[in-house]
Amino acid sequence: MILVVETFSTPTTIIELVGNLKKAGAVLTLEADEKIKFQVPESAAHLIDMLAQHKAQLIGILQARGGRVATFPRCPNCLSFALYRRDNLGNFACETCGLKGIDEVTARRVH
Ligand SMILES: [Zn+2]
Repeated sequence: MILVVETFSTPTTIIELVGNLKKAGAVLTLEADEKIKFQVPESAAHLIDMLAQHKAQLIGILQARGGRVATFPRCPNCLSFALYRRDNLGNFACETCGLKGIDEVTARRVH
């Protein structure tokens, strides 16, 4: 007799979840001692609980992607990737259209 065990959450689901977070502008970073740093917009904060229940899988995904999941920041106004910020902290400014005060979540959200 063969038993087929269906797990509640397949790795595909976790990958989709991570993809959705990434599109929402989240930054997930794998830190020392297998700690995960979440920078997530409020609109997607409820997804963290789900991810936390599958930490081992999430760590695997992060390791496979170089320890970090995030989109490349771009200007919400002109969609340019030419953003800069001092010391890589705080809000971005756009070198193409001159827009200032672009926060991290806005810059990383997929438009
Ligand atoms: Zn711009």
